[in-house]
Amino acid sequence: DDRISRIASTIRVIPDFPKPGILFQDITTLLLDPKAFKDTIDLFVERYKDKNINVIAGIEARGFIFGPPIALAIGAKFVPMRKPKKLPGEVISEEYSLEYGTDVMEMHVGAVQPGENAVIVDDLVATGGTLNAAIRLLGRLGVTVVECACVIELKELKGREKLGDNPLFVLVSET
Ligand code: 5GP
Repeated sequence: DDRISRIASTIRVIPDFPKPGILFQDITTLLLDPKAFKDTIDLFVERYKDKNINVIAGIEARGFIFGPPIALAIGAKFVPMRKPKKLPGEVISEEYSLEYGTDVMEMHVGAVQPGENAVIVDDLVATGGTLNAAIRLLGRLGVTVVECACVIELKELKGREKLGDNPLFVLVSET
């Protein structure tokens, strides 16, 4: 698909952000290219339309950019998966590990119903810890996670292995 190479070419790589030694994949430059942004959304919509997906679960913050247009196009609801103490209603939480220390992800308990089918959306998978926390949260509420969907995968960090049997779909693989 020649849309993929165009999308890949719009992602900017910034060295030493947010810390020395990190090569940060910056998707804000993809958003500046309306064709690349539309192609990105279209590729996910083509994959998930007519698959009985009820829920697009978007991970703060960049899953909030790619998730909602996919949800609207396939007729699913959008559920934000947030950093702690941001959501006002009753939440459930999962702790997950980062390179240094831990973080917590929260979601509203009333946002989903047992038996619904979800796709989890984020911009990038690195170690897979973030997606894994989202999978656990949705699982606790009886939701089936059909797939995780990201624009970029950092292959060397083997995030895919951390997801176990949960499928991961990505547009661009960085080695
Ligand atoms: P993981 O939990 O898989 O190690 O890290 C993935 C999370 O960190 C995602 O929410 C993603 O937005 C963020 N992240 C880590 N590295 C990068 C990067 O190089 N670029 C972007 N855009 N996000 C990153």
